[in-house]
Amino acid sequence: MVFYENMLALNNICIRCAEREIVGVFGANSAGKSTLMYTLSGIMEDIRRKEAMAGGERITVMGRIRFLGMDISGMKPSRRARIGIILCPERRRIFKESSVLENLRIGAYLASPAKAKETLDYVFGMFPALVHLKKRIGGFLSGGEQQMLAIGRALMAQPKLLLLDEPLLGLSPLMQSVLVKATREIRDEKGVSIIVTEQYARPVLPIVDYAFILENGAAVMEGSGEDVINNPDVRSAYFGI
Ligand code: ATP
Repeated sequence: MVFYENMLALNNICIRCAEREIVGVFGANSAGKSTLMYTLSGIMEDIRRKEAMAGGERITVMGRIRFLGMDISGMKPSRRARIGIILCPERRRIFKESSVLENLRIGAYLASPAKAKETLDYVFGMFPALVHLKKRIGGFLSGGEQQMLAIGRALMAQPKLLLLDEPLLGLSPLMQSVLVKATREIRDEKGVSIIVTEQYARPVLPIVDYAFILENGAAVMEGSGEDVINNPDVRSAYFGI
């Protein structure tokens, strides 16, 4: 559970993601998707501490998070990154003043030089559009290019669990399909487990093994991609059919 002051933002939620699985978490604006991603990546711990030190908002996080058999609740986000939990945040948050190559190199701070080189080649192979943009400053990239860069940067950190927070937000259907295909490839080729949030389930649902529907911070439904798409309430609320 996560409270912002007395506001319950995540309520009694139980999400699991097996190794090499893609799990989708779908919900409308303010359903709690980013709160969930911040909580899993540990950034919520940093936000909570900073707010407490500054005498600001009182944030309460309750419950347990387990990763590869370890209890990581309360673990700092930097340590979670070191054990393989990497967040690709909502609205990309690339380093806007740095070039594409610099953004990717910054992402590799946890990797050996050999791994960094190998992953850099992998990222450029997966997103050839970035090859010619190596020297381009991040802030001058289109939304889709920024998202490719953000995913590339997250891969450079050698994730075991990749958290993708609304990667398709505001992008064209064509770019969305490039990113959905890349997400599946990352799981298939790199063996990375992935939790992906989106407002609209339709573009992502074909690649998810399991899905949760989030409403007001609670998972109101869960099941295989097929279960979710066949549920009449979900169909009308999230697919407009
Ligand atoms: P969106 O799609 O708009 O990003 P979301 O599903 O990611 O939405 P969250 O950002 O997790 O939702 O927000 C969940 C709820 O918590 C919302 O009602 C939001 O207003 C509230 N909230 C988020 N961050 C804070 C904060 N720092 N202080 C107070 N309330 C917050």
